[in-house]
Amino acid sequence: MTPPAPPAAAPADRRRDLAADCSSCAGLCCVLPAFAASADFAIDKPAGRACVHLTADARCGIHADLRQRGFPGCTVFDCFGAGQRLVRAAAVERPAADPGVAAAFPVLRQLHELLWYLTEAAALPLPAGLHDEVTTALGRTERLAAGSPAELAAVDAGVVRAEAGELLGRVSAAVRPGGDDRRGADLVGADLRRTDLRRVSLRGAYLLGADLRGADLTGTDLLGADLRAADLRGADLTGALFLTRPQVAAARGDGGTRLPAVLGRPAHWTAAAPGVSRPRPRRRGGRRGGRRGGRGGAAGR
Ligand code: SF4
Repeated sequence: MTPPAPPAAAPADRRRDLAADCSSCAGLCCVLPAFAASADFAIDKPAGRACVHLTADARCGIHADLRQRGFPGCTVFDCFGAGQRLVRAAAVERPAADPGVAAAFPVLRQLHELLWYLTEAAALPLPAGLHDEVTTALGRTERLAAGSPAELAAVDAGVVRAEAGELLGRVSAAVRPGGDDRRGADLVGADLRRTDLRRVSLRGAYLLGADLRGADLTGTDLLGADLRAADLRGADLTGALFLTRPQVAAARGDGGTRLPAVLGRPAHWTAAAPGVSRPRPRRRGGRRGGRRGGRGGAAGR
């Protein structure tokens, strides 16, 4: 008897390839950018100089203790896989010391971040014409990302970002019918536990320290939203739009936080805290938490 066919495997999410692989890199992000001493980095470091904690084999000497040693910013940064790709493309002996690599790295990182968003957009249920636009933009961005270091350095990443941002804005509107638009909203420290945020655009919104415990963020556009120290314990982000690894790593979460499958749970998140329940959201149009206005209009990539 013919055995039954195995169930079809879910298509692989190509975003899995858009992740840093430090073992295949050369410590570019530990050498090329400048750091200012702050809550994110314990030291000042000029651009182009290796961090004092970078070892001779381009590894972080304090990797297991970054947060305790005052470097939480390093646990949040993600090159979206640009580092290892550029090291391969450059094929030079000391990539982190190469001026061409230094010029290309910030460009390729931005292109890889755009590839993350466009890849997600291409998998969304869109009208045919819009889907074609997304796949065209995806192919164009991939061709740019495949350039040599010299070609990458000549790319005007700001223009590419602006074009992609406009397209992604239309994608967002298409998949959030009737959803509110709170782009760039100042929601710093806001209590949003009982606010219905489903299908709301929070693109570029300031959500630093916001209380999103138990929130349902299905269909919520979070592109460029600042989620630093936002409390996501018990929140459901499985259907959130344009969420990235750095955003998740910068937020607080626990074992009860639900994330899209492509995003791993940050190592520093705790196990589910007892007593964190999911409050019922208020009806759409009810009072929303947080301050209004002020700094609106920023970010929205
Ligand atoms: S602390 Fe570690 S991860 Fe951060 S810049 Fe220095 S070497 Fe890199």
